[in-house]
Amino acid sequence: MSRQTEFVLRSMEERNIRFVRLWFADVLGSLKSVAIPPTEVEGALAEGVGFDGSAVEGYTRLSESDMVAHPDPATFQMLPWRQGTGTARMFCDTTNPDGTPSYVDPRYVLKRTMDKVSEKGFTCYCHPEIEFYLFTEAHKPGTRPVPLDDGGYFDHTTLGAGTDFRRDSITMLEQMGISVEFSHHEAGPGQHEIDLRYADALTMADNIMTFRVVIREVAALRGISASFMPKPFTDHPGSGMHTHVSLFEGDNNAFFDAADETRLSTIGKHFVAGLLHHAPEYTAVTNQWVNSYRRLNGGGEAPSYICWGRNNRSALVRVPLYKPNKSASARVELRSIDSATNPYLAYAMILAAGMSGIEHEMELPEEASNDVWKLSNRERVAMGIRPLPTSLDEAIRCMEDSELVADTLGEHVYDYFLRNKKAEYDEYRNQVTQFELDRFLPSL
Ligand code: GLU
Ligand code: MG
Ligand code: MG
Repeated sequence: MSRQTEFVLRSMEERNIRFVRLWFADVLGSLKSVAIPPTEVEGALAEGVGFDGSAVEGYTRLSESDMVAHPDPATFQMLPWRQGTGTARMFCDTTNPDGTPSYVDPRYVLKRTMDKVSEKGFTCYCHPEIEFYLFTEAHKPGTRPVPLDDGGYFDHTTLGAGTDFRRDSITMLEQMGISVEFSHHEAGPGQHEIDLRYADALTMADNIMTFRVVIREVAALRGISASFMPKPFTDHPGSGMHTHVSLFEGDNNAFFDAADETRLSTIGKHFVAGLLHHAPEYTAVTNQWVNSYRRLNGGGEAPSYICWGRNNRSALVRVPLYKPNKSASARVELRSIDSATNPYLAYAMILAAGMSGIEHEMELPEEASNDVWKLSNRERVAMGIRPLPTSLDEAIRCMEDSELVADTLGEHVYDYFLRNKKAEYDEYRNQVTQFELDRFLPSL
């Protein structure tokens, strides 16, 4: 029995655990969960737990639906909101019954990509800034959401419900071993942000899945609702999940070069060039919903154009300047990715795009120092600045032509994702909106 398995079994006894939830993500990033009693845990860790894959988005076809979930003992954690009945969770890797890895498991897609990164001698760290809205109640179809407060950026709302909400959420996250670096009110009413302390890409993707559950649980406990929808209001900023990335070679930050004006090393520059070069191809993954494109086209500090800058919040990739001379904190920030992405697939794509930049020694284009929204189209073209896809439809088309996305996601996830997203777009594009009714119907 491995030491981790022993640790899990001992913790279960000491903490009187009565249920263990096995968690994994479907292709769109929804969390799936199956609970097992303590007596089943040893067997589950040794052999996995069978489930019907045909019932999970993007998993198998009906004829080959048996799948096995293998809990990862390193992810064992108590669920702090279930205090009365000791409940814990573990994330799972899924396999086919013959033990081969399941090519539809988003966690496997990320692991495979991280293996390629470590074959080149790098470890990747990331940290996300996760934005979300709090509403007064759960959504009722046909109504508009009401924000919980009317604060703005960094506002300290006196006796604010939002402040208490963040305190409770951060306490629970820390009880689950997820460190928080920063939290504040964001620019929209009822909009908040919590930034997680950096970790390797897989741990962070797991943390983001857990984060979403914690935020929703805390909201439910307080009788309010939380949403990671990319753009719930026309007139307020959307919810991004800007992600800071760095590559380390041993203890050295491979992105840092003290002698360069930008403080970015050649490797860092190639990585950013890869993020820019492949941006149209992976945007369907980092921004996977029809609603995602309202945010990307809606201003509010979300990027619409493919460029990079240092202190430039309209750029797709920003090289932060907080501590320019500190090697450990050198990193790059991708700003397009939103809060409703599948973090496993999105982080796999970010790594793959950056590594492609390194592999092909892609050259970093000139820095965009202006506010790129204020330039004319002609000026942007002259500077070689391309737009990001402006709709899910356009993003799908770019993804359809992408070898990088096909290779990174693997055939099954790639095909399923495209089919699912085309269906979403087709359903959406036939809808007659309130905007059209108000614009085209004669009014009194
Ligand atoms: N809410 C903005 C977005 O959608 C980001 C604001 C910020 O810079 O944190 O990306
Ligand atoms: Mg923010
Ligand atoms: Mg940011």
